[in-house]
Amino acid sequence: MQGVGPQRAAILNKELHIYSFRDLLYYFPYKYVDRSRLYYICEINGNMPYIQLRGKVLSFETFGEGRQRRLVAHFSDGTGVVDLVWFQGLKFVMGKYNTTEEYVVFGKPTVFNGRINIAHPDIDPAEELTLSAMGMQPYYNTTEKMKRSNLTSQMIQKLMKHLFVALEKEEVAETMSENLIRKYSLVSLPEALHQIHFPQNADMLRKAQYRLKFEELFYIQLNILRYTKERRSRFRGLMFEHVGEKFNTFYSQYLPFALTGAQKRVIKEMRRDMGSGRQMNRLLQGDVGSGKTLVALMTMLIALDNGFQACMMAPTEILATQHHETICKFLNGMDIRVELLTGSVKGKHREKILKDLLTGDVHILIGTHAVIEDTVNFSSLGLVVVDEQHRFGVAQRAKLWAKNTCPPHVLVMTATPIPRTLAMTLYGDLDVSVIDELPPGRKPIQTVHQFDNRRVSMYAFIRKQIQEGRQAYIVYPLIQESEKMDIKNLEEGYLHICEEFPEYKVSKVHGKMKPAEKDAEMQRFLANETQIMVATTVIEVGVNVPNASVMVIENAERFGLSQLHQLRGRVGRGADQSYCILVTGYKLSEDTRKRIQIMVDTNDGFEIAEADLKLRGPGDLEGTQQSGVAFDLKIADIAKDGQLLQYVREIAERMLEEDPQGIKPEYAVVWQQLKEMRKKNVNWSVIS
Ligand code: ADP
Ligand code: MG
Repeated sequence: MQGVGPQRAAILNKELHIYSFRDLLYYFPYKYVDRSRLYYICEINGNMPYIQLRGKVLSFETFGEGRQRRLVAHFSDGTGVVDLVWFQGLKFVMGKYNTTEEYVVFGKPTVFNGRINIAHPDIDPAEELTLSAMGMQPYYNTTEKMKRSNLTSQMIQKLMKHLFVALEKEEVAETMSENLIRKYSLVSLPEALHQIHFPQNADMLRKAQYRLKFEELFYIQLNILRYTKERRSRFRGLMFEHVGEKFNTFYSQYLPFALTGAQKRVIKEMRRDMGSGRQMNRLLQGDVGSGKTLVALMTMLIALDNGFQACMMAPTEILATQHHETICKFLNGMDIRVELLTGSVKGKHREKILKDLLTGDVHILIGTHAVIEDTVNFSSLGLVVVDEQHRFGVAQRAKLWAKNTCPPHVLVMTATPIPRTLAMTLYGDLDVSVIDELPPGRKPIQTVHQFDNRRVSMYAFIRKQIQEGRQAYIVYPLIQESEKMDIKNLEEGYLHICEEFPEYKVSKVHGKMKPAEKDAEMQRFLANETQIMVATTVIEVGVNVPNASVMVIENAERFGLSQLHQLRGRVGRGADQSYCILVTGYKLSEDTRKRIQIMVDTNDGFEIAEADLKLRGPGDLEGTQQSGVAFDLKIADIAKDGQLLQYVREIAERMLEEDPQGIKPEYAVVWQQLKEMRKKNVNWSVIS
């Protein structure tokens, strides 16, 4: 193609993964600036976006020396004067422009000392500008490397022009069916693609964007819905027909408190799933402390009542052990055998558990990854609960399915709330339940922001809490690039704290410790043998020490919102008032300031997740990366296009109802397109 030699092609490959005409065609501008309007200089005021002026340069002037040198062109349109300013490329500018020709100048004006400046404006000779160039001006993202090879936004725009010339002979094939295009008033694909790169006006641009977003989200939803249907017809589920003696006995005699409304609702949802004859595949979201463990237990009891075993998998040994203890305590007095299986369960004891699993004598198995090893086999596994889902890979979960001839029901629990729109995209094939209510009597955690040179009062506060019998966490960030640095950071913090609190015992836990050591240290803290726990984020997940009432997070600016929320959830688990102290340096970026403020303002995990999504975009959200979904939306924005997502999902649903077999000729284009998409993006089909 004209304009793309081997060198440029190589850069486009490497920097933007553009290999074909099609790739380039789908490289959309990230913003547009309206250049259809000319302003008069006398209209300019203090805060204007990019504007466009037409006039002549009156004179050039240079100021300063060396690095301070700058060039000013006094520019006028007869209604006033602005100063066009350059700090670089002075010679080039001087050589290119003169005081006789008329120019169109484009840039962002700033007013300083009563004079209007435009720094590094775009300048074009007025007569060279065609009408289209003066319409909506597209801007393309470019990298440093690209800029160095003169592959600027403007250059990409030129390439697009060549591309459209090249494409004229072979029209781009439509990817939506005729009837959908008509019914939902979409513009055609060739039209949309042309307008997205060369918009005629704001209205046409909006129509083009709408069409492309519609299509992008539509196919994602169609794919998920279709996949769900396929899975459902392929995998029949175990039928749990009744809720029986164990569930009822537990509910009426052993349950130490009343269930919250949300817990009741969620248990009902699961009962319905498991009694439907289809395999349950449910994601249970509930904020930290919302009581997911109990819900899991009661669901497991339903499995037992129907003659099946249940299994619960946790991401760490500490967590598995805690679940085991919690559940044994709940069930104390009932005739149910619960066993713990982790890497450190060995020898005769392990053999016995494995043997009794096979005979069905073990009813509930709780453990770490150890439970999915090939040597672990059940007599009749009916339900699998996976706690803290985002730490488990897809493949690991799939392995559990094979542990029964008919795949067991699956309950996935997470405390990392996922905003609805994102959940629909990521886990569209999982049904979602939400526990949106905390058990009564919890005091909301008080969160404060503290600059790191105010330690004296903070230590005094921690000391007072410990004197009242409480315990405190102090968490240091994990700097992934350098584990050595982490440990150093943590070691220094640890020594510092030991010096500050000579009268108390201090624990230390980090990811590089052996699991057994880590466990022992956690146990000491849990038993209140140590009063302060200095740790990296290894304590983030699930650990329960109800007596701890202070969470100090050092370098809080280094953490993402959801991580801060998870960490904060380690306190506030008992009846006492708890506190979270976010320690940061003085210099904070705007985004960081917002993050910290959100933490101070709210304890609501969903609110925080929504805010996180808005601040960072879905690509960075925790849980997204680990979920293995290639997340490259080209034009739709999960944070902003939630309504459209919901809308197209319904359209996709209706289409599937109309054409469940995928055979109707009017939808042939759609099915073909879906097939192509699946070929390219295998990930979409393995989400659950
Ligand atoms: P998470 O959802 O974070 O896993 P847990 O299951 O650990 O929460 O529950 C947190 C605490 O709340 C536990 O001590 C649990 O016993 C308690 N709890 C759970 N449900 C209720 C309830 N309905 N009323 C009172 N306390 C509850
Ligand atoms: Mg939990």
